[in-house]
Formats: sequence, structure tokens, C-alpha cells
Amino acid sequence: MRKPPPAVPRGRIPAVMRRLAREIDGLEEPAVEKIAQDQKEDPFQVLIATLLSAQTKDAVTHAASTRLFRVARTPKSMAKLRVRDIERLIYPVSFYRTKAVHAKQTCEQILARYRGVVPSTMEELLTLPGVGRKTANLVLILAHRSADNICVDTHVHRISNRLGWVRTRTPEETEHALYAAANRKWWPIINLYLVTWGQNVCRPVHPLCGGCAIADLCPKLGVVKVGRVSRRPDLQARPSGRT
Ligand code: SF4
Repeated sequence: MRKPPPAVPRGRIPAVMRRLAREIDGLEEPAVEKIAQDQKEDPFQVLIATLLSAQTKDAVTHAASTRLFRVARTPKSMAKLRVRDIERLIYPVSFYRTKAVHAKQTCEQILARYRGVVPSTMEELLTLPGVGRKTANLVLILAHRSADNICVDTHVHRISNRLGWVRTRTPEETEHALYAAANRKWWPIINLYLVTWGQNVCRPVHPLCGGCAIADLCPKLGVVKVGRVSRRPDLQARPSGRT
């Protein structure tokens, strides 16, 4: 059995979150957050953009979502598209063939089972094709304004472990561990802060610890090799995508 993680020092998570609130200002936001803001938190577009975003660079997700929504922006209009039309519109997102099938099936199920309205519970969202906990949590947070969820992708999973907030093997374990470790007020924004930091500074490979604004609050657990910082990390960052 795995050892439970040592307790996070009191006040450490709020200190990191407050500092990140300042530091992420001006950095490139994750694509789905931008789409949610642009589309006034439309649940359907947040859902589809999140489906497209898995394993895909943010710029590609944003461009593909924009092309798709220009043609169809409701479950009804997207369900009428052929899978190959959706493929063509969303290419080159990763796994575009599978995602096109899931997008069409999701539209059909929203129409058939939920009267064309994206459901607002975790249980219902998880019944839709291609929707896992990460997508469901993000839809609940960004589109349904839930304050009761934490969305964990591999950025959140990786950085929470590096920071010593959790000691977990999978994003789902991290999600549940974070509910226990973090005060509720941080739950809906952990994803935005850590994904933005993960895309710009605390990268999967060679994190920029030398220029990291929260380095004094981070034990850097599991970090073997860091990247070279020759100037401000926000200026040298090469954003990666959602994972
Ligand atoms: S100090 Fe390094 S490991 Fe810790 S958050 Fe910053 S970049 Fe990530």
C-alpha cells in the first residue's frame, strides 16, 4: 500500500494560489477557458472544445473549435453533420477521427436524452461518449459555474505532486486527494492556475524552476532536470497543450 503523503504545511496551498493569481496575469490562458469566455460559458461549446482539447496543443484546439462552431454551434446543427465533415473541420487535433465520432454521438445523445440541453451533473455527463471526469469537471466549472469540482488534467496532476500537495499515481487519485488537501475556495480555479503554470513554467519536461515565482514554496518532488532560464520565463515560454 502507498504511504499517505506528509501533511502539506499549513497555509502553503493558499500562499501558492495567491502568488499564482498575480503571476499568471498576462500569460496565455488555456484554450478552453478562452473559448468559454468568448462564448459566454455556453455549456455545449465548452463541452465540445474540451473533448477536442485532449492531447492537443491549445492553438490547434482553439482553431479547430472556431472552425467547427462557425458551421455548427448547437447539438441540433452539429448532429446533422456527417462524421467526415466534423473530421475535416477539426483536423489536425489529435485523434480527430475518434473525436469526430464522439462529438456526433454526444450531440445525438444530448438531443435524444436531454432535450438538447447539456446535462449539469457529473453522473449524466459521464454517460456521454468520450466524456471522462476531466471533461465533466471542466464543463461543470466553466459552463455550469459549479464551485464543488476540481478539474484535474496531467498538468494539475504533475504540479500537485511536484508541490507535495498530493502523492498520487493518476489524475483521478489527484482529484480526490485535492478535495481533501485544498480549501473549497480554491477548487474551481486550481485548474486554471496550474494548467497556465504548467503550459508556461512548470513544464512536463525541464521545468523552469530557476525562474519560478513559487520556487520557495515548492519541494520540487520528482524533478530531475530543470530547464535553463536565461530571461523571464513568461517571455521564453513555449506553451504546450492540454493533456
Ligand atoms: S519550482 Fe519547479 S517544480 Fe516547483 S512549481 Fe516551480 S517550476 Fe514547478
